[in-house]
Amino acid sequence: MGKIFKVFGGALERLNAYVQENGGRYSAVRENVLEHACMLPQPFTAEQLEKACQLEKISSGTIYNCLQLFLKANIVHATKRQKGHQATEYELITGNPIRMQRICQKCGRVTNFRAPAIDRLIREQKTPSFFMQHYTLFIYGECRRCRMDSLEKRKKKS
Ligand SMILES: [Zn+2]
Repeated sequence: MGKIFKVFGGALERLNAYVQENGGRYSAVRENVLEHACMLPQPFTAEQLEKACQLEKISSGTIYNCLQLFLKANIVHATKRQKGHQATEYELITGNPIRMQRICQKCGRVTNFRAPAIDRLIREQKTPSFFMQHYTLFIYGECRRCRMDSLEKRKKKS
């Protein structure tokens, strides 16, 4: 599962750097919570994160503390929904200004790629009501190795 961190531009490295600078201690639980946060569709609520951490039996208090730390460390930002009393939503901040990544849904391998034509298209979508700073493009699928594996398995069956 560790590869998923790469999607969010070294979220784990940034967390560790922040903890070190502030004299904190290493925490496997905190790392675990971050990993779960990276796996969730963005943005997510504290409740969703709690649910994702259920198997590890991480308390809601710990998750709350982790989220506060992630906020301070600039790994996530909070986006409050304006309507009603909806819960705060959290979103991971990507490290790189521009990111195009292919993610294998079988093994979690992440590969960066460049597509100048797509980049140009996105930059041309100018609107006066929104100023774009950066974007992230994820393409989900199956990497070559996993594809070969599943083809091989299919061959063996027939
Ligand atoms: Zn794969």
